[in-house]
Amino acid sequence: MVAPNLETCQYGYMRQNDLMAEERDGFRFRGGCPAIDLPATLQARLKPAPRELLAVPEDVRRWMVAAGLTDTAPPADEGDLALARRLREAIYDLAVHRHGGSGPPNGSVDSALDVLNQVAALPAATPALSQSGNVRLSGPMTAFIATVARDAVHLFGSGAPIRQCQSPACTLFFVDTSRAGDRRWCSMKGCGTKAKVAEFRRRKREGA
Ligand SMILES: [Zn+2]
Repeated sequence: MVAPNLETCQYGYMRQNDLMAEERDGFRFRGGCPAIDLPATLQARLKPAPRELLAVPEDVRRWMVAAGLTDTAPPADEGDLALARRLREAIYDLAVHRHGGSGPPNGSVDSALDVLNQVAALPAATPALSQSGNVRLSGPMTAFIATVARDAVHLFGSGAPIRQCQSPACTLFFVDTSRAGDRRWCSMKGCGTKAKVAEFRRRKREGA
């Protein structure tokens, strides 16, 4: 990985095949690590009515499991839901401010940094090595959210190439791990294919 100091992007978390799918339990994981995938839980950001995937506390628990942080996440309450959403918007805002994007952000860099650093300062989840050789985290839900925040701190601080998908309708960010550093889409199967089809139709129209 580009940013090996991210706990949840370490080998023990990401090596299972079932964690490689771009969509898991209704959530999108196209960015390369959970911290940059969290903003994807607010879908269709540029539309008048975005779709909230973290609608109830249980959704936060489901996301943590889908993200591969744990098999059995602890229950989440309303406070965890609010915290997860605040962290999500802080990560999104920092990505837009620092790495460009079609935004608009919710607020300033300073307010995003305040939120991110406050959440990262909370006690984080405890990692443990299982008999099968996997890494799994444990702790209350707040600690899982703090772990994601800490990873976001390291991700932004690592200089990793964070980019936004170039599809005009897509606001997803990803860590560009391509060798040439020229990845354009959050997903080749999704936005990449749509763009190719649109380009093909445009050429056909113009060539006709
Ligand atoms: Zn996209």
